[in-house]
Formats: sequence, C-alpha cells, structure tokens
Amino acid sequence: MYTCGPTVWNFAHVGNLRAFIFYDLLRRQLKACGYRITHVMNVTDIDDRILDQAMHAGTTITDYVKPYVEAFFEDMHALRAQPAEHYPKPTDHIPEMVAMISTLIQRGNAYAADGDVYFRIDSFPRYGALSHLDRSGLRAGARVAADKYDKESVSDFALWKRAQPGDEKLGAAWESPFGRGRPGWHIECSAMTKRYLGVTFDIHCGGIDLMFPHHENEIAQSEAANGKPFVRVWLHSEFLSDATGEKMSKSAGGFTTLRDLVDAGHDPVAVRFFLIANAHYRARLRLTREALHAAAEQVRRLREFADRVLRWDRASGDDTALVARIGQVRAAYREALDDDLNLPQGVGLVFELIREANAALDEMRVGEAGRRALMELIEEVDGHLDVLAVEEPGLADEVERLISEREDARRAKDFARADRIREALKQRGIALEDSREGVRWRRVAGQTRD
Ligand SMILES: [Zn+2]
Repeated sequence: MYTCGPTVWNFAHVGNLRAFIFYDLLRRQLKACGYRITHVMNVTDIDDRILDQAMHAGTTITDYVKPYVEAFFEDMHALRAQPAEHYPKPTDHIPEMVAMISTLIQRGNAYAADGDVYFRIDSFPRYGALSHLDRSGLRAGARVAADKYDKESVSDFALWKRAQPGDEKLGAAWESPFGRGRPGWHIECSAMTKRYLGVTFDIHCGGIDLMFPHHENEIAQSEAANGKPFVRVWLHSEFLSDATGEKMSKSAGGFTTLRDLVDAGHDPVAVRFFLIANAHYRARLRLTREALHAAAEQVRRLREFADRVLRWDRASGDDTALVARIGQVRAAYREALDDDLNLPQGVGLVFELIREANAALDEMRVGEAGRRALMELIEEVDGHLDVLAVEEPGLADEVERLISEREDARRAKDFARADRIREALKQRGIALEDSREGVRWRRVAGQTRD
C-alpha cells in the first residue's frame, strides 16, 4: 500500500491529517482481515514551496524541512496512527527518478526542452481514465497558453527542472544525463513505489485533490516506463472543510494544525475520533468546535462504558438474549467496515448497543458471558478507533513492575499486600484480570483532557 504523504514545507493542517488518519483506518481494517501489509508513505522534502521558504530563511532545504518532518511524526503519534513500514524521502531517491526519466525519454514518452524534461501526455492515450478527465478540453486549453512554456502542450508536466542560480546553495541540484537540476513532484511517487513495492502493487491512497493531476501523472509515468499496470485499487478521501464550509488548504491561507487544536484545549484522541468516526471517508466533513466537543463526549462515553464493563464483578442473571444481541451487533459492525470502511455506521450501532447494555448493567442482568462478549466487542471496535488507552509516559513499565510484585506477594501468601497493590493500580485507572495465561492489565479511563 502506498499513501501520498505530507510535503514538509510547514505543519500539516487538519485536512491533511484527515487523509493520513484515513490511511491508518484502512491499514487497521486490512490487518483485522488478516492481510500482511507493506505500507509506504512518502515524506516530500523537495518542492517549489520548500525551495522558496528555505531561500527566505537563508538555509538549505535539508535543514529547513527538519523541524517539519519531526512535527509530522509527532502529529502521527499523537493521533495514534500506526507507523508505516517505510517513509521514503525524494532527496534520498534521485537516482531512481533519473533512471525512470531516462527510460521515458528513450521510449518517446518524455522530451527535454531547455534543461527541463516533460512528460508527453499525447504519448499516453489512457491519460485521464482514473478521474474521467475530458481530454478534448485539455488539448483546446493547450493551444491557448502553449507558447508561454517550452512545452509541446500546456498539459505536459515536468519530470525534471533545470537548476536555477539559487538552487545550488539550497542543496537542491543534482547531476543527471539531462543536466543539473531537480525532480518534479509527480515522478517521486512513481520512482519510490517501484523501489519499495515493485511495478504493480495493490493499493494507492491519497486525498481527493490528488486524483488529478497527481495520480493521473503517476499512472502515466509508471505504466509508460514499466509497461505494466501500476495499481490495482485506488482510494481517495474527501476534503475537510473549515467552519465556514470552505475546503481547508495551506495555499488558501486559513488552515488549522493539530497544534492549534491542542492549544485550544482539544484532546488529539478526540480529534482522531472526529476525523475517522464522524463521517465516511468519502464524505465531506466540517471542522467545528461543536463537532470536536461531541467527539470528545463520545470518547468519554466509550471509555466510561469500557471501564464499567471491565470492573463488572456482580455477574448475575440470565443474559442469553444480551449475548445474542451483542453477537448481532458485532456481525453488523464487521459488515459496515467491510463495506468500504463504513466506520461511522459501525460506531453508531455500537453506541446503540451501549445504551442497551448500560440498562442491562443497571438492572443487574449481565453475567460473565455477557461481560466477556462486551469486552471482546469493545476490543474489536477499539482496534479501529484506538481511543481507549490513556497515555502516561513510562506507565507500562511501572505497571509490569507492580504486577510482578503482586505475583510475588501472592506466591508468599501475603494476600493483603497483593490486594493493596491491585487497589492502588485501580486508583490509577489500571484494572487487572487474572486469566489462564497469567495476569492481564488494561488502562481504564475516567476523564478526558478536553
Ligand atoms: Zn504521490
């Protein structure tokens, strides 16, 4: 799986993060279905904006992007995205790009013009198939503006850009058979997918704004150079709009970062919930304070419920009907996720069940079978949502230490001490479960930080 990643000229805005967390949801669902995954996400460390900013800052592109690369990984961690297997950077893969451009020139799909190299769109008849592009429109436009460029057609796009006078100082110029210069944006993904995933691979994702021209260009470059189909399945996530309904974008000026939201008091975990569970990934989603507060409230309810079920030790009554109902919801939840990742629908079903189960708990109608079935469902849902665990640095080590102290106490038949340790952990939101495989522990949470 290849997912188009950030261009690190600035902090990622929440609209970018929506796409990245959608990748994470897909990754988790594929894993839940039993697939082995090789997930590659590029971190674009060279483009016009980076060159501009580095020049203004009087530094090299490598130094300029460093804090933004770090910020990207911090954001991903705060949002609990599982790490990809590879995060390649274009500046580490210039030879692969030069090789692919050379092949395209040899095959007649690309041409050099005054130190630049362009892809010849007319040489690739399937161009535009992914986005159902009207190619006649493309050509008509071409005649109007063509002489502004050294291109044969205005829709031809750059594979290689001749080095400009300032580029050397920025560390943004490389040797190539077509002269010193730097790669265009699109070729990086074609070269890096080939390097990490081969000429044909299963899944390619991106935000909907990348479908044209970026992904059309990737297909054209890769299929023309490799002579093989590029990608089996494409998935694109919709825009995030701001409170006024406008698409959030960095170039338009008004954009919100995760840092902005955290500074305003929002919990990144609630932001995560909002981004993946409030709307289907192919539907528009509007970022508002109310929506974030509602997401935080849902996270709180889920945590409270998980906590309640975990601590439930008054098992009693006949819960056969409840167990059957939980099974039904679990099947419907899976069906929703299998149907193009419909997490919002699945989560809706689970919240309905939570209401019913809370009533059953109030009325003492939950036995051990019901408790277990609820725990299993919560675990499965949190496999996608990942909102239940409460972060506390160094916690895991300390809990393990206390658990082994408690085990020692029990072996020494000092049950009072064992109980004190268990109680102390409970106070801190850690519940222990004695199982056949030994002691298991779980973080159960009360309050959110929102
Ligand atoms: Zn890409």
